Amino acid sequence: MKIFEKLSPIPIWNYFEEICKIPRLSKNEGKIRKFLIHFAKENNLEVKEDEIGNILIVKTASPGMEDRKTLVLQCHLDMVGENNADYPHDWATDPVIPVLSDRWISARGTTLGADDGIGIATQMAILSDKKLPSGKIECLFTVDEESGMTGAINLKPDCFTGRILVNLDSEDEGILYIGCAGGMDTIGTMKYKPVATDKNSSALEISLTGLRGGHSGDEIHKGFGNSVKIMNRLLSDLSNNFDISVSSFDGGNMRNAIPREAFSAIVFDKNVIGRLKELIDNFHTAIKEEFGTIEKDLKISVKDALLPRYVMDKESQTRLIDSLTACPHGVIAWSKEMEDLVETSTNLASVKFTGENTVKIVTTQRSSIESSKYEVASMIELCLKNAGAEVVHSDGYPGWKPDLNSEILRITLSSYKNLFGKEPMVKAIHAGLECGLIYEKFKGIDMISIGPTIRGAHTPHEKIEIKSVQMFWDLLTDVIRNISLQS
Ligand SMILES: [Zn+2]
Repeated sequence: MKIFEKLSPIPIWNYFEEICKIPRLSKNEGKIRKFLIHFAKENNLEVKEDEIGNILIVKTASPGMEDRKTLVLQCHLDMVGENNADYPHDWATDPVIPVLSDRWISARGTTLGADDGIGIATQMAILSDKKLPSGKIECLFTVDEESGMTGAINLKPDCFTGRILVNLDSEDEGILYIGCAGGMDTIGTMKYKPVATDKNSSALEISLTGLRGGHSGDEIHKGFGNSVKIMNRLLSDLSNNFDISVSSFDGGNMRNAIPREAFSAIVFDKNVIGRLKELIDNFHTAIKEEFGTIEKDLKISVKDALLPRYVMDKESQTRLIDSLTACPHGVIAWSKEMEDLVETSTNLASVKFTGENTVKIVTTQRSSIESSKYEVASMIELCLKNAGAEVVHSDGYPGWKPDLNSEILRITLSSYKNLFGKEPMVKAIHAGLECGLIYEKFKGIDMISIGPTIRGAHTPHEKIEIKSVQMFWDLLTDVIRNISLQS
């Protein structure tokens, strides 16, 4: 492989080239762990492993800098393996093949694994750099970030000693991240009584399609339609005007996605079909107008259906529709300290008739403030309990509250301005990072998250911007120098 030859910084690209050859899907980090332990031994660096598989490699302080603050660098060892349908790839054995095009490195047919392979390569470059004067540096490599964060969850309190940490897992050069949201699920399960359908009724299937959906962390504030909420509004309107019975309601799929589609089937007196379809038409027009261009492909369609044998009993139906009407979706609170940061939100992710006369309702809550996350989860719990549902919460993961007075933020900001002559953006994200778990476990730790520019992470389009890697390296090494000036 010659493509990395002319790229700088040379150490990072050399290590990254090696890392590309090593399969390392989540929960299968054995090979990359072995590689790192070998690297530590070759470089005479102290190395520790914990039971879950996290690795800590320590670079001792330069002579005369033993009294300086210890810095922790952190990245994750695993990667997401996605390949194009027409590009077979064995993720247990095959190497990733990097491809250089213009300003970017991507991979042939697969994810590149720059998320977070570039973090691994960077920590290796720091550890093996003999010319960078610094206090003690602890490099933490966690396992399984991409499929459950079990590495970060199982960190032992004595794993590292430093109380300043730079996480190398964000994807935007020019943005310093200082906070992330925690999350949890609130799930309701309700039972209903099946009632035999009146043979003189008619049935219709209603489909709602064409919504944009989106990530429930990154896009919750964009005002996209929620297919479950919209379908429920239609069912509510219909049941207020006609004697309808619902026989199915199915909307949404993934807990961290805003639902894009919903389908339901209703049964009613066959004499009202004309007026009933007219109501659906009017609703369609009104809802399209309400969302306007943001949901220009929103579509509600109906078709005649075979009579189902059973429908939901009326009392349960009313309780379900009412509780979904009351159940909030979207932004609950904006940050009071940081502009444009969603602090707390909830996603009404899915409703499903799961068979056995059961309806399952899945919701997820996010907040950068732990207490607010629990408050909104209680609010949703009450809504679902009103439907007669049994409600459970997942353990979830904690958030990382932004601290605008943080020392590492001040140091990184001034390094960035000195190096590049411009202000970086300072942001928090409304999605999860391992930093939330670290923040919870290592009380009082001062953290920041930086990284080079990566686009299309977790897809075969993943690519990393070459020049941003040099800027990232310059920034990180300057921050290390500046921390080492403080005693
Ligand atoms: Zn990552």
